[in-house]
Amino acid sequence: MLLANGPAYVAIPGPSVCPERVLRAMHRPSPNIYAGEIVEITKTLVPSLKAVAKTDGHVALYIGNGHAAWEAALFNVLSPGDKVLVLSSGHFGTGWGNMAHPMGIDVELMEFDRRGGNDLEAVIKRLKADKSGEIKAVLSVQVDTSTGVKNGIADLRNAMDAADHPALLMVDCIACLGCDDFEMDAWGVDVMVAGCQKGLMVPPGMAFVFFNDKADAMRETNGCASHYWDWRPRANAEALWQFFDGTAPTHHIYGMREALDMISEEGLPQVFERHAVFAKAIWAAVEAWGRGGEIELNIPDPKLRSNAVTSVRMKAPQATRLRNWAESQAGITLGIGLGMGTSEDPNADGFFRFGHMGSLSAHMILGLIATTQTGLKALDIPHGPGGLEAASQVIADATNVT
Ligand SMILES: *Cc1c(COP(=O)(O)O)cnc(C)c1O
Repeated sequence: MLLANGPAYVAIPGPSVCPERVLRAMHRPSPNIYAGEIVEITKTLVPSLKAVAKTDGHVALYIGNGHAAWEAALFNVLSPGDKVLVLSSGHFGTGWGNMAHPMGIDVELMEFDRRGGNDLEAVIKRLKADKSGEIKAVLSVQVDTSTGVKNGIADLRNAMDAADHPALLMVDCIACLGCDDFEMDAWGVDVMVAGCQKGLMVPPGMAFVFFNDKADAMRETNGCASHYWDWRPRANAEALWQFFDGTAPTHHIYGMREALDMISEEGLPQVFERHAVFAKAIWAAVEAWGRGGEIELNIPDPKLRSNAVTSVRMKAPQATRLRNWAESQAGITLGIGLGMGTSEDPNADGFFRFGHMGSLSAHMILGLIATTQTGLKALDIPHGPGGLEAASQVIADATNVT
């Protein structure tokens, strides 16, 4: 069968689909890095990024992926022997903590249900018990891309305040910046990390660490800061090389400029709304399939679901069969069940993920859902009827017909 031979669609939760505009902006000869427009364009990225993060604080740019941002953030504020409290309800929460171990940081992991988010009562209790203020930072993901859970970050700040604890609040928004609302200053976040390749629609290669003055004061006294990860020269750069401690990622800078222009042309609230509608369409389809088969959303509570990624549970090995079918027979790549082979859930072949972040329009989401439903049929996987109908109703209801 040759039905997959047209354009492919990679619907994994990062890297996301790159818009033609971004790819075209990057398709050019190398520029002079010592003078000219690339220097000016780089400077314009700073206010645009801060607008997306809703902060008047600082941002440091790095050549790197999300893991680079994780490490950079930790290196700037922590010293060997410092304790951090890592909140995890999935692969990525735990992953950030794992970066801290080799730096000599004392990592205390609080693991929560992979089908729910942070348990804030438990967090308050733990922080209240830390009378001597041993815990220097609380690390949390906003969205865990493995489980699809979205944590309430404003609620986490309120919990830290309720415990009257001075630790820094450090948040990973790598999955969802530009998809789910995030308000760094209003929510009292001290450090936020993000990458360019998910909601920001640029090929992997640039990472961002946002920080406020409280976090920068900790940078003053910490023992880890390395020359390369140091956020200060980057956040206060004048010359292009200072932004990146060496050669700038020239083509990524053009790509980022274009992507941020696209976001501001559409309007950030509209970008979030578009993601919200697509996510609801996907959830409606999965719920319909589940009324007639062993298929369900990993996150039962809609308030804890992300606009950027949806994790689906099935009977193993059906999810893997479905992914293989979708890629080989229909040209759509679905996300693997990342980090789901745990002791509670021994079989990752019973999970797959829809990435629905970035440059997507209704026809792509409907194609994604229709293709998935077709795969369920082709593979004889029991499922309820009406998934695509339900999704198209969500999209129809969201359109403005005048
Ligand atoms: C993708 C992702 C990461 C890791 O980013 P890389 O670019 O793969 O290093 C970390 N955290 C979250 C929440 C992510 O979605």
